[in-house]
Amino acid sequence: MYVVIGGGAAGCAAAFVLQRAGRDVTVLEATADIGGRTRTVWRDGFGVEVGAIYMLNSYERALALLESAGAADSLEAWSPLAGLWDGRALHPMRYDYIPSFFTLPMLSVTDKLRLMWRALQAVVSPAPEPFETDSLAAFDRGEDMESWARRRLGDTLFECFVRPLIEPSFGTDCRDLSVPYLQGIMKRAHRAKFFLPSGGMGELCAALTRDVKVELQTEVETVDAGADKVEVTTSAGEVLTAEGVVVATDSTSTASILASSLDGDSRRTLTSAPYTSMAHVNLRWDEDPWPDNRFEMLLPVGPGPRPLLGTIVKTSQTSRLIPHGSRMTDSYFSSEATRSLSDEELISIALQHVADICGRDVPDPVAEVFSMDRALAVSPPGHYRAMKRVRDSLPPRIGIAGDYLAHLGVETAVVSGERAAQRLLTACGNPSW
Ligand SMILES: Cc1cc2nc3c(=O)[nH]c(=O)nc-3n(C[C@H](O)[C@H](O)[C@H](O)COP(=O)(O)OP(=O)(O)OC[C@H]3O[C@@H](n4cnc5c(N)ncnc54)[C@H](O)[C@@H]3O)c2cc1C
Repeated sequence: MYVVIGGGAAGCAAAFVLQRAGRDVTVLEATADIGGRTRTVWRDGFGVEVGAIYMLNSYERALALLESAGAADSLEAWSPLAGLWDGRALHPMRYDYIPSFFTLPMLSVTDKLRLMWRALQAVVSPAPEPFETDSLAAFDRGEDMESWARRRLGDTLFECFVRPLIEPSFGTDCRDLSVPYLQGIMKRAHRAKFFLPSGGMGELCAALTRDVKVELQTEVETVDAGADKVEVTTSAGEVLTAEGVVVATDSTSTASILASSLDGDSRRTLTSAPYTSMAHVNLRWDEDPWPDNRFEMLLPVGPGPRPLLGTIVKTSQTSRLIPHGSRMTDSYFSSEATRSLSDEELISIALQHVADICGRDVPDPVAEVFSMDRALAVSPPGHYRAMKRVRDSLPPRIGIAGDYLAHLGVETAVVSGERAAQRLLTACGNPSW
């Protein structure tokens, strides 16, 4: 038997690969639901994403696994109309259509020429695979993303192009992040496309574990490796014996679960891996107050940092997660705002932001705050190399997976899960892989 600990995207991808290789596999998940940070929860007919919202066409492994699971049909192309809000006006653009940047009035002719030149350069220059730890590690020169982007693109392009794209997604300042991920996505930016699972992101893990045994509310305490077997002990005291184990939890839990297999350096690397906290405010109106407003992303631009990073807007015209004639917004907050502001303050800022942009005299919505301590894995300079060292130091029958091995994102999690499962199959003498 093989055991996967953690039922998020990384764990479910690992379980799917093991099950498809003909192995008997069980997923042990601490909470009452599968999905981790890809869960969709339902509130009075509205589907609310607890974590991830969208996938990109560069999520090649996640898309391939969904297809192999027979669930690719549920993916819908999404070309969101974004509004860059400079405090006075809303400037429309689409992140999946680079020419729309050239219409932004805050960019000078020099900025536009520079953007074009850098975009062309990015296409022909070597760049890392943006979801592979080893490839990202090879491109990490120790510089932070903000200095690199300001140096190459200039201040205005940094504020209007890089910051509004990266900071709402990563929940942190660009100066906390290393460069390789940005290099990887800039190379692919000219052909970027967004996808949404029509029934919500929760469909991903549900599809991957359709034929896998899942034990919910089963928290694992320790994993101990022997020469030809691994013992898994749950917090209820149950002991399972497995041929191989993938630990697919957050980095701190992984350090604790694998305490007997990790050297001091690896333990320190895992316990100190940075995550941002992130709150998001979900606002729901049964009757859409702005039926003519077509914006699907509201992104503040200009010098940061700022508490509110961005808002995703869903209506029944753009999403199947929304009842007919209604509207829902999700506003995402920085780590600092998440830690320092009360729920009431977060709701009031989110409502003000949406009202400033969409229109005043807003009827009261139903409001709910979702908050996570370890929301988004951060990848500062040097992070990828440190994680590669940890992963490679483990006994062969133990694999680790999770977005923290590279940086946040569904594809990173899926790739890490696939790699961990393949490693186990090799270590356990899999003839058919
Ligand atoms: C607000 C937000 C928005 C996001 N938006 C996007 C987006 O649009 N697109 C995108 O690609 N990514 C997005 N992400 C990031 C993405 O959701 C994550 O990178 C990815 O889902 C992480 O998957 P994972 O499997 O590594 O971790 P998790 O999903 O955290 O899974 C870990 C699982 O392990 C379980 N677990 C922990 N400890 C134990 C234990 N001891 N025993 C058993 N089980 C345990 C947990 O309960 C959890 O289910 C977003 C994240 C957040 C928070």
